[in-house]
Parts: sequence; structure tokens; C-alpha cells
Amino acid sequence: MKIKAVNGFKDILPDDALRWQMIEKTARDIFARFGMREIRTPVLEKTELFARSIGEATDIVEKEMYTFVDKGITMRPEATASILRAFIEHGLHVKQPVHRLYTIGPMFRHERPQKGRLRQFHQMDVEVIGATEPQVDAELMAMGQMLLDALGIKVSLEINSLGCPACRPAFRDKLIGYLDQHRESLCSDCRRRLETNPLRALDCKNRTCKALVQDAPSILDSLCSDCNDHFSAVKETLDLLGVSYRDNRFMVRGLDYYTRTTFEFITDALGAQAAVGAGGRYDGLLKQLNGPDLPGIGFALGMERLILLMEQQEDRTPPQQTTDLFVAALGEKAAVHASMLVHALRRLGLAAAMDYSGRSLKAQMKQAGRVNSRFTLIIGDNELAEEEGILRDMNSQEQSRFSLSPAVDEQAQQMAAILSA
Ligand code: ATP
Ligand code: MG
Repeated sequence: MKIKAVNGFKDILPDDALRWQMIEKTARDIFARFGMREIRTPVLEKTELFARSIGEATDIVEKEMYTFVDKGITMRPEATASILRAFIEHGLHVKQPVHRLYTIGPMFRHERPQKGRLRQFHQMDVEVIGATEPQVDAELMAMGQMLLDALGIKVSLEINSLGCPACRPAFRDKLIGYLDQHRESLCSDCRRRLETNPLRALDCKNRTCKALVQDAPSILDSLCSDCNDHFSAVKETLDLLGVSYRDNRFMVRGLDYYTRTTFEFITDALGAQAAVGAGGRYDGLLKQLNGPDLPGIGFALGMERLILLMEQQEDRTPPQQTTDLFVAALGEKAAVHASMLVHALRRLGLAAAMDYSGRSLKAQMKQAGRVNSRFTLIIGDNELAEEEGILRDMNSQEQSRFSLSPAVDEQAQQMAAILSA
């Protein structure tokens, strides 16, 4: 039996890899404009880190984590906890007051695989630690929007505030009071979570729950004046920056650590997998992890969903890798010359290729097409004797002569000049 990849784990094949590279490059460029610096953390962490940050009564911790039970370690289901762990462990806060960090990499969650939902998926994750100003919240959303725009992806931005330890408990009680009156109609998940995580009912996918919460008390009516001012200032700044958004008082996010601003970039083009990216503020989390009492905010974009949307929203042909020059060599001596020229060109920074199998000119021209070469240089033993190869522009099919007489390094220089003209 052939061995296949594990269910929910996917290969990224060479035809698709260029698109991944392009997205990452675009992201790195834009992140750098916003002063973000890269941090890379391990994919394994102590299980306790996720239990204590994401929360015991969340879907992720309850049922989605890949945990080595005997070793007490877990494959990271998200990046925020790991980044904060590293931040605290290395005392980064001592060096400067505000840190702007990002990471790109695989995350692991044991969910039912479907379109846009995998067990190993990839996130681009951004965190700003040490700033509480609402302008930072707006700036992060504006950055996410800028990146999505640059990738040609259309989404809408939804925002909410989840309040803080001063005002959320009262809202929580109010909500429990309301939900308890309708206990019998709630789905089994929401009934079970009524005491542990009642806010989850607000974004429950169950139809009856959805209808029920329409009349539930709104968190936005329960915000304390600090949270209210903060949320208003976030919105004012979004307006100033020209970022459009919509209030969504039902958005609670699946992680316990959020406070105040939460947001999601939403699409209706991926069925149930509506969130392309999501995040929010987590002002008490560092302290909760025994770190300094610093505020923070972050968000993550799911790369697989970005790619699905790009495939839907623009042309389906992914970007292709190209070759500057393919050298078609006919005959042994020509092949020796070709291999030296190809190497000299590569040393000059060009993508050059040849075929070592001594196949026919026709077969080699086909190969030149497969590697998307812009130009092909044809060298037969005759051409070598006459010290002139034939250079073909693969687009226009125009041909010209190329001198093979001076030393190979000089030929390479001349060729490089032609190719960059
Ligand atoms: P969902 O509601 O779709 O399960 P989530 O709220 O669990 O998403 P987050 O934890 O906020 O997602 O992660 C941020 C982003 O990571 C999501 O918006 C999504 O694009 C992506 N993501 C999350 N889980 C998966 C997964 N299993 N497969 C692919 N992408 C995912
Ligand atoms: Mg999820």
C-alpha cells in the first residue's frame, strides 16, 4: 500500500509554492512598513501554556490540540501564546517599551478537515506588546486591510469590544440570566457552557441559539466608560485612516484572553469558513502568564483561506517561476561549453538552465518551454566551430547571433547585458 499524507495535513507542491512565497513577501514588506520585526518560536510548547492562555473551556483546548500526553507538550494551535512566552522568557520588555512582532508558520488543530479547514494550517501572526492606545488597534486593522488589498482579496472588517475585568463580569451575569431563561432551547454545547463560557452562545452556529441571542443583552451597552471611550477612539481612528468596518456585537472569538477590541476579516465566499483573519486585545494576558503587566493586541491571517480566495477572486493561473536563459547544447563539446556558460551566468545572479541528456533540439526546446525560459541559446558543434550560437527570444521568436569566442566569463557578462536590456 502506498503511504499517503496524514488526513488534514497537506503538501504544498512546486506549482503552488510561488504563490505562498508571493504572499509571504508581500506580508513581510507591509509588516516592515509598520515597524514589525520577525520572531520565530518553536512549534512545540508546554501544554500548560495554551491551557492557561487560550483557556480551559475553549474549543481549542477542550478538543483541538495535538498533545503528547506523556510528555506534557503540545503542537502550537496558534502563535500568540508562544510569542508571549518567548517575550517574557527573554525579558524583551526591558529593552524598549513597545514591541511590534510578527511570525509566519504552521499551526496545528485537530478539527474536521474541509475546504479552508486543515489540521496543519499556516498563519501570519502579528502582535503589538506594550501599547494600550486605541490608535494601535486601528493601525493594526488598517495594516491587515492593506495586506488583503495588496493581495487583491475582498473582505469586510467586523469589530466589537469585549470589555475589561471591570465591566465584563456584570455583562456575563446579565447574559447568563438571559440565557438561563431559555435554557431548554439552547443547543447542548451552549447549555454545557452556560456557566463556564456563556459568551460563546453569542456566536454559536446553531440556528435556534442564533435566533435567541438576537434579543440577548448587548455587551456594547455594558461597557464601562473607559472601555466605551477606547472603543469609540478605535472607530474614530479607523474612520480617519479610511478603513471601513461594521459593528458586530455577537463576535466573541474562541479564545478566553481577549479584552476590549476584537475584530475579524470576513468573507462570504468560503462557506462556513468565514473568517480569513481575526484578532483582538489581550491586556491581562502577559501578567496572567507571570510576565510584566503589559497590554497587547494581535491578529492572525489564515494563509490557506487567503489562497482559496485569491484563486476565486482573480485568474486561476498561479504565478510561475521563470528562467532567464536555457542553453540547448547539441554534441559533447557544445555541452561542455554550455555547462560552463550556465554556471558563469548563475554566478552573475541569473536563472540559467540546460539539459544534460543529449536529447534532440526539439526535445530541448520543449524543455526550455517547461522551465519558462525567456531566451534560449542554441549551441551545436558547428556553432562552436564558428564561435557563434543562435540566441532565440522565446516570446517574439526573433533570432540573433551570439558570439562564443572570448572567455566564458566575458560571454556571460555579454549575455547578462542582453538579458537585462
Ligand atoms: P474558525 O471560526 O474558522 O474556526 P478561528 O476563530 O478558530 O476560525 P483563529 O483562532 O482566530 O480562528 O485563527 C485565525 C485564522 O486562522 C482564522 O481566521 C483562519 O483564517 C485561520 N484558521 C483557523 N483555524 C484553521 C484551520 N483549522 N484551517 C485553516 N485555517 C484556519
Ligand atoms: Mg476554530
